[in-house]
Formats: sequence, C-alpha cells, structure tokens
Amino acid sequence: MVERVNLNHAAGNPVDKRVLEGMLPYFQEFYGNPSSVHIAGQHAAKALANARMQIVNLVGADVKDRIVFTSGATEANNLALIGFAYRNRQKGNHIITSQVEHLSILNPLKFLVKQGFEVTHVPVDEYGIIKLEALKEAITDKTILFSIQHANNEVGSIQPIREVAGIAADAKVPLHVDAVASAGQIPIDVSDLGVSLMTLSSNDLYGPKGVGALVVRRGTSIQPILLGGGQEMGLRSGTENVSGIVGMGLAAEITGRELEANIRHFTRLRDRLIKAVTSKMEYTYLNGHPTHRLPNNANIRFSFVEGEAITLHLSFQGFLVATSSACTSRTLEASHVLLSMGVDEAEAHGALQLTLGRDNTESHIDHFTEVLPPIIQRLREMSPLYPPS
Ligand code: PMP
Repeated sequence: MVERVNLNHAAGNPVDKRVLEGMLPYFQEFYGNPSSVHIAGQHAAKALANARMQIVNLVGADVKDRIVFTSGATEANNLALIGFAYRNRQKGNHIITSQVEHLSILNPLKFLVKQGFEVTHVPVDEYGIIKLEALKEAITDKTILFSIQHANNEVGSIQPIREVAGIAADAKVPLHVDAVASAGQIPIDVSDLGVSLMTLSSNDLYGPKGVGALVVRRGTSIQPILLGGGQEMGLRSGTENVSGIVGMGLAAEITGRELEANIRHFTRLRDRLIKAVTSKMEYTYLNGHPTHRLPNNANIRFSFVEGEAITLHLSFQGFLVATSSACTSRTLEASHVLLSMGVDEAEAHGALQLTLGRDNTESHIDHFTEVLPPIIQRLREMSPLYPPS
C-alpha cells in the first residue's frame, strides 16, 4: 500500500492525542450542562472557565476579556462582523477589509452591504501583503471597523498587523483580526497589538473540528446573532459543546507551549520544500511573501499546468495536496487571493497550496520533491502552450 502523506493540513488537522484524552471524560463521565446549578453542571462550567483561560493565555488576552465559544471560525467571523456592525450602526456604516480575506469574512460583509453598510476592500501587493497607504486612505468619518487577517491561509503571507493596528488606533477604529491561519503558527499578543476582536479555530490548533472562539476585548460592544438562552455571556446562545471546548482549550495550551519548537520544525521543512521544488523545475514560482510567511505554508504555481490535474496525479502516489483554499476548491474559479496579487487567471489555476503538519518529516518532503517533477513534466507535454515560443 502507498504511504499516505498529508501536505494539506490547512484543510484539516488530526486531533492531538493528548487533546483527545482530555476530551473523552466530557462525553460520558462529566456530561453536565454548564447552565445547571447542580454539581454536574458546575463541573462543566468549571471546564469552560478553564478553557477560556487557556485561550486567554495563547493570545495574550486579559482575564477580563470575553472568550465566546462558537461552532467554528466561520461563526466567530460572522459574529464579529455582523454583531459589531449592528451594535455600532449609529456611529457609522463603513467597514474596511482586505481583498484577500477568507470567504467567512467576505460573505458576511456582502450581507452587510445589502443592509446599507459600505465596505472597502483594500488591495494587496504582489506578495499578498496589504497596502498600508491604501488602508489609511480608505478611512472616512463613517468608518466603524477594520477586519484584517493576521496571515493568509492560502498563500501564507503574514500581514503587517502591528502597523495595521497602529493605523486603526490613530483613527480610533476598532480592529478585528482573523487569526485562524496564524494562531499556533506564530506568536500572537492581542494586548500588545491593541486588537479589539480576534477569531480563532480549534482544528487549526489540533483540537476538534466544529469549535471556534471570538475574543471580545474589554470595552468592545457587539450584539449576538444567535438568540436563545443567553449562554456565552449573552453573546452566543445554545448549550455549549463542552467536550469540544475542553479540546480547544487544551489544544491552545499545548500549542502555546510547543510553539517555538514547532516553528523551527515547520520552517526547516518548508524551506527545504520550497527550495527543492522551485530549483528542480523551470516556470515554477513561489506565491506569497518569501520571508514574511507562515512556517507551515508553501504555495507554488506551475505554468502550463492545471492544479486539479497535479492534485489527482499526486493523489495516486499517496500525496494529499490542494489547489487553492480548501474552502473554495468546490468551485472551479481561480483563487481570489492569487488574482488580487496580480497572478493571471491561467497561472492561478496552476497553483498548489502545500501546508505542513506536525506529522510531516524530511523524508516526506524528499519523497514529494522526487515524485512531483515527472508529473509536472508529463502534464506540460500535453499542453499546447508548452514550451513557450
Ligand atoms: N478564516 C480562515 C483564515 C480560514 O482559513 C478558515 C478555514 N479554515 C476560516 C476562517 C473558517 O473556518 P471554519 O471553516 O472552521 O469555520
């Protein structure tokens, strides 16, 4: 049997064994509802409080900040944007974001536009880095919120979030940061940066899927979008997913503790991968910033070939890879991130998003970089455009 090598961790991570162990008692032994006043309920409530502290510690928040657990990052992004916009409507109707955000930012903003809000999508440079001058110029007296990602999930570029936060502070506009791709990959400190709202996802920390959190800093006012029993400090009704939240908390704690070692591990593998792939083949380019990039991300495009064809051929050889964002691969459209960076449409279709995980080894990388060139060569030979004249 061919060994399966996963180079598509952005789409999903295995749950860390230690996390799973920590979760298991909360399925049967400690199954109480945190809203119950009896002992079983109080046990569950304590577990939630502990998980909130673990999140606070991962991102450098304050004990007085609210950690609102959700069903995932999509819900947390919806709550941040719609919840903030509705609550603060009387202050203005303008929101600033970037062209390269995840669809769970872009689509709630489209919804808000239908409700009378105005949205400016700030452009990025060829590396996918937000243009700070354009960000400054976009501010009006109606601007109530910035929503800028910490790092791009698709091409791995890390945004100059400190500068963005500085611009937001000068303009007295709160900043929401989607930190799904960066949390657990690079250090984050919301207090130091002065971020008002931050979205996190459990599975990206090697916790279970279907759990996320919105960090709501003290002094930031949002309105709930799910109405019911008033759980999660009134900001997210519905009985909490206790075992999942315990898992997310534990995943955050472990990730924080092991961050430095993981950064070293990922950076070494990533650089080996990028160097081998881009030096072994012509017409092969790195997408995203060469140095300001996530340690686990290598996004590479191959001219004259279709990414879908590469992924299929690689899959026959046991490699799991993706063409662009796992969340948009259902559509055949070119990635909006690559197009925003000025990559032309045909080239954008030839991009592979390679995301490393804790289970990857040097031998995976070496095996991959041996298998890939003949696949690319074979596919190129079928292309009428290759070799270019
Ligand atoms: N933001 C970013 C940057 C993402 O990459 C994703 C998807 N992993 C999301 C938000 C949404 O996460 P989920 O699908 O878990 O809700």
